[in-house]
Amino acid sequence: MRLYALCAVIFFVATTNAASLFQKPEIEQKVRYDNYKVFKIKYETAMQRQKLLDLTKIYQSFRLWHEDSSECYLMVTPNALPLFEETLKISNASAEILISNVQDLIDQENEADTRASDKFGWTRYNSLAEIDAWLDEILAVYPVVTEGFVIGKSYEGRDIRGIKISYKSGNPGVFIESNIHAREWITSATATWLINELLSSSDDLVRDLAESHDWYIVPVLNVDGFVYTHEKDRLWRKTRQPSNISQCIGVDPNRNYDSHWMENGGASSDPCNEAYAGPYAFSEPETKALSDFVASIKDKLNIMIAFHSYSQLLLSPYGHTKDEVPENYDDLMQVAKAYSDTVKDLPYGTVYRYGSSAGILYPASGTTSDWAYNEQDVKISYTIEFRDTGNFGFVLPPAFIIPNAEEALVGIISLLAESKKLGYLEPKYI
Ligand SMILES: [Zn+2]
Repeated sequence: MRLYALCAVIFFVATTNAASLFQKPEIEQKVRYDNYKVFKIKYETAMQRQKLLDLTKIYQSFRLWHEDSSECYLMVTPNALPLFEETLKISNASAEILISNVQDLIDQENEADTRASDKFGWTRYNSLAEIDAWLDEILAVYPVVTEGFVIGKSYEGRDIRGIKISYKSGNPGVFIESNIHAREWITSATATWLINELLSSSDDLVRDLAESHDWYIVPVLNVDGFVYTHEKDRLWRKTRQPSNISQCIGVDPNRNYDSHWMENGGASSDPCNEAYAGPYAFSEPETKALSDFVASIKDKLNIMIAFHSYSQLLLSPYGHTKDEVPENYDDLMQVAKAYSDTVKDLPYGTVYRYGSSAGILYPASGTTSDWAYNEQDVKISYTIEFRDTGNFGFVLPPAFIIPNAEEALVGIISLLAESKKLGYLEPKYI
């Protein structure tokens, strides 16, 4: 299998080099997903689940897109379909096809991009360079209430930038981490839209939201991975730091935080796995930089929200275990319900489920949300998984950016109002 893969790579490189004489190399080198399919597979027993997940460990032909407590979503290469069908038969599980050709969705996204105007906006997905240039503009237009900051540099040496929005001193602090997973483009699109609303909206509720909190927003944390998704592989998830023990590149940064790191099977020690936790906690410059920055402002921070996609969920700690729940679990659920109810009341009627991360999904250790809760005393901490529920998955068409962002805005208004009611927005240290 490995030899075959190596030959395929050599063949791919050889053909790309020949073709590059006649075609633009950056287009030719992009990873393609022609006829790759995404299946939703329901399982009832732990054995069924294990058989299916084993496919992703052994074969590069299967990639896990999402896993719930009773189902998983797998992307399957065309040549692996017979093995996939055989595995389904043996494990007596049923599958439904959600996406019949992943490349079609990527092509449609590119077409929407070329049709949209050059101006920064939310009718297409923006590159890191465009987001950086837009941040500079925003900082210049609103110099009194904004402050740009750099939390550190990525493995490839890029600045990891953020923006603080503060209308007055003494406000409770809200931190938003976004695009830690490279392919989840809807997260930075939503974060930038939110920044724009906080600064420019004239709606009373939004003005109150903006002016009664101090906002710390990092629109793209995994900058190297994000650039890689734009230039090479739309479906890249991890960081881009090479491994000392494997040819596989990158770490799942949302398994790399130093809180119950690698406990309870909540991450993988295999560098080729999509949930590889890294050689040690905070091995990635991106997570280390974020943690140092958050630790430096922890006495000002009341709320942590990590933006992800997809599956429309609000996930509270704990991720590392479902055998215990946090001491303020009931409050966390009450606040999550407020978010979910408000989003559902919008005309889109979008449903968000909520629960603890390990309870509603599966153990995931070393996440931002758990780390902020356990190690930084941020007692309202969530991972939000945005749209959709699988028809587009990570390749959510740009037409959904604004509806998704509107949902995030009203959801966060309710989340903060409910947190305030429960006493979580008081100054933490006096
Ligand atoms: Zn994610």
